Amino acid sequence: MSLRRSIYKTPAQLRAMVEPGLITAAALEAARGLIAPGVTTGELDAAASALITGRGAKSNFQMVRGYRHTICASVNEQVVHGIPGDRALEPGDIVSIDAGAEYKGWNGDSAFTVVLDDPTRPEIVAERQRLSDVTEGSLWAGIAALATAKHLGEIGAAVQGHIEANEPGYGILREYVGHGIGRKMHESPSVFNYRVSDPGPEVRPGLVLAIEPMVVTGDQATFVEDDGWTVSTLDGTPGSHWEHSVAVHDGGIWVLTAPDGGAAGLAPFGVTPAPIA
Ligand code: MG
Ligand code: MG
Repeated sequence: MSLRRSIYKTPAQLRAMVEPGLITAAALEAARGLIAPGVTTGELDAAASALITGRGAKSNFQMVRGYRHTICASVNEQVVHGIPGDRALEPGDIVSIDAGAEYKGWNGDSAFTVVLDDPTRPEIVAERQRLSDVTEGSLWAGIAALATAKHLGEIGAAVQGHIEANEPGYGILREYVGHGIGRKMHESPSVFNYRVSDPGPEVRPGLVLAIEPMVVTGDQATFVEDDGWTVSTLDGTPGSHWEHSVAVHDGGIWVLTAPDGGAAGLAPFGVTPAPIA
């Protein structure tokens, strides 16, 4: 009934995506601030929900068919799509929180990972923190690549290259990928976290992507738990998930879901983000 929507946004549309990005960032920060042993993932969900509604926005996760929550909370061998609820966080847990906000018809989507301290298991904590750090690094490597990439495929190559250069034994999930984002949370194109033969669409102003590496210390094979959502590793090794929504515009790139536009994360890669004018 209508022409297929272009994957490239106009400058006005990019400006409209700034606020939902910042609300998404604030919702994740509200959840992050509560993370401690004994706190349930349901309490994190409530905090993120209150933040989003308090800013006049809506949880876009609640608009996903069959999903009733504001965040996904994935603990230990769960990599993504964990359902928040009664589970209380424990010392040594690695927990990934994913959330998004829709504001005035435009969407943000972002995720982070935290490792809870456990003085009785320092090796476990160090291994899981390393996993989170390398996964986060691979996200920033992918975002940095976007600053100079000619085609989308260069992002996945940068993500995979970062993992291989730091922890070649890690697995990168293959069945789950990043995506375009705009009027809908999930739009074309798919953003792979690994090298693919197809160079993919052209990178040029107007492209907005949710880049989201999902990485595990062991084999990348996963299964969906009986709840129908939670994606866990088959071998039980822990996972980490980091995500940002990023815009390419006339002046450069800007990380919509980071209050500093990604300046801190991009600095090690020699990339300076430019605000959307
Ligand atoms: Mg997400
Ligand atoms: Mg996403």
